[in-house]
Amino acid sequence: MQILLVEDDIDLADALLQTLKREGFAVNHLTRGQHAIDAVETELPDIVILDLGLPDMDGMDVLKALRKISADIPVLVLTARTSVEDKVSGLDLGADDYLAKPFEVAELMARLRVFGRRASSLKHSGLVIGEVTLDDVSHQVQVLDDVIVLSRREFMVLKALMENAGRVQTRDSLESKLYSWGEEVASNTIEVHIHHLRKKLPTNFIKTLRGIGYIVKPESK
Ligand code: CA
Repeated sequence: MQILLVEDDIDLADALLQTLKREGFAVNHLTRGQHAIDAVETELPDIVILDLGLPDMDGMDVLKALRKISADIPVLVLTARTSVEDKVSGLDLGADDYLAKPFEVAELMARLRVFGRRASSLKHSGLVIGEVTLDDVSHQVQVLDDVIVLSRREFMVLKALMENAGRVQTRDSLESKLYSWGEEVASNTIEVHIHHLRKKLPTNFIKTLRGIGYIVKPESK
């Protein structure tokens, strides 16, 4: 879990860095708003912890800029401003949570654990391999930015292959995922689904291992 900590109070930042690292988080620390925006543009962290009182920019403007880059990235705002109006405008701009300074580190950790669970469930709903994204919740498949239309069974075949990327799926195991026991299945059914899928997917996305089955290779990072 990668955290970006944006905080210009060095003593507070040092204390947080120590604790976060001890808890097993990977943490990058920046003190300026513009640097934080640049960093998030380059590589999306899993969580941003953002102080509102920064030397170069108002934290609210940083938050606005972050939301333009990503609508989903969880942002935990640290603030000494405790007035209700600040909280409301911050939530309008898309902060996910607040901690008013001074706060207990244990409280921060508890909030981060909630964020972490949310982040991993977000990632869980979308399988991404190379140019192909399969969303199990919306039942949507995209190649780059294009949504492609699949039949229910084509979707199930692709899902089985992507969930088991790097592992061969035999024709029998795919059939057993698609059809109930005793259902009449033509011997070339899986081949037909694969043939249709290939027309809609990038070349070579599904590979054939002759006489064995099919495989989708996980993209090496
Ligand atoms: Ca500050």
